[in-house]
Amino acid sequence: MTGEALAQGQSTTRPILELFPEELPGEGYRKAQIAHWLYARGALDFAEMTDLPKALREALAREWRISEFALVEAYPSQDGSVKYLFTLLDGKKTEAVYMPYQNRKTVCLSSMVGCPAGCTFCATGALGFGRNLTAGEILAQLLAIAHHQGISPREIRNVVLMGMGEPLLNLGNVLKAVRLMLHPKALAMSPRRITLSTVGIPRGIYRLAEEDLGVRLALSLHAPDDETRRRIIPTAHRYPIAEILEAVRHYYAKTKRRVTFEYTLLKGVNDHPWQARLLAKLLRGISAHVNLIPFNPWEGARVAGTPKAGILAFAEELKRLGVPTSIRFSRGQDVGAACGQLALKAPPILTLTPTPEDGGR
Ligand code: SAH
Ligand code: SF4
Repeated sequence: MTGEALAQGQSTTRPILELFPEELPGEGYRKAQIAHWLYARGALDFAEMTDLPKALREALAREWRISEFALVEAYPSQDGSVKYLFTLLDGKKTEAVYMPYQNRKTVCLSSMVGCPAGCTFCATGALGFGRNLTAGEILAQLLAIAHHQGISPREIRNVVLMGMGEPLLNLGNVLKAVRLMLHPKALAMSPRRITLSTVGIPRGIYRLAEEDLGVRLALSLHAPDDETRRRIIPTAHRYPIAEILEAVRHYYAKTKRRVTFEYTLLKGVNDHPWQARLLAKLLRGISAHVNLIPFNPWEGARVAGTPKAGILAFAEELKRLGVPTSIRFSRGQDVGAACGQLALKAPPILTLTPTPEDGGR
């Protein structure tokens, strides 16, 4: 489809996933029927909604669209996870990962195309900022994954916003998407099973605390000292660790949700024993859990990961100092499951949907 045709497509239909169930088109119980088709049955086409009158289905298809993607590509990994690359209606690309482990179906969703934060170890950061995703585009990732997996969207019980982008820099749209996930007539998810991962934007953390949605917060700390953090995370120049931790303490006081601290171990950068000790000291008095992430290498990266022995030693030191610690061994490495990698290099493995013509869905 040409850029022109896509632009026309966008102007003739409106994104139905932007609507809360009570705002859906139709009178009375029709709204509930449509919500059921979207969120329980996972319909991506109004024609599937067979208990609606045909005239209504046709009218809906003329005015509204369900999918937000021109193309969905899947990259299955040997470990069972599946990485999805989405081409949006304006031709830009974003991605998500499906992880069906231990009977817990989890999706990792993106909040942006690219990311403005520019962290040196992150492939998304290397892409730069494309644009914010709308609430509908965030939800549409989950629905497209459920559709491809042949499951109800409501079977996906865990969502992590750890794909492309910084959720707290697109907070309005992210909050709307989260509210739709929580809505009993939409995805009916538990807030404890939704995690927002942030590079550490204090005003965003305060706002999230005020919203009081009960979602979990993960903070990408990656260094216990400002000097090291600034070397790898450009936004650390604006927000010192002390300021971020103050916001995190406030989040905990308000929500009583234990905060996860993410820490990607980079060789010779943030993996020294003194940094483990400083991290333990920093987290004293905070209800924290440290998630050590082995670096997921990508082409062009100018940093290297800490070898396994070093990761284990770092974890041991933290545990010895009483810090609850786990190591998140990477999943889907063979298909580039570190955020941003598919968008950097990507011959498709499996193409799922042909470019749909507008109105024909
Ligand atoms: N922007 C948000 C969420 C997306 S990144 C954030 O930064 O938290 C999700 C997590 O993956 C972050 O902790 C991020 O630092 C980490 N990450 C990014 N690239 C990585 C890589 N190549 N290897 C390991 N972890 C990575
Ligand atoms: Fe953006 Fe997060 Fe990647 Fe940093 S780690 S560039 S904040 S997506």
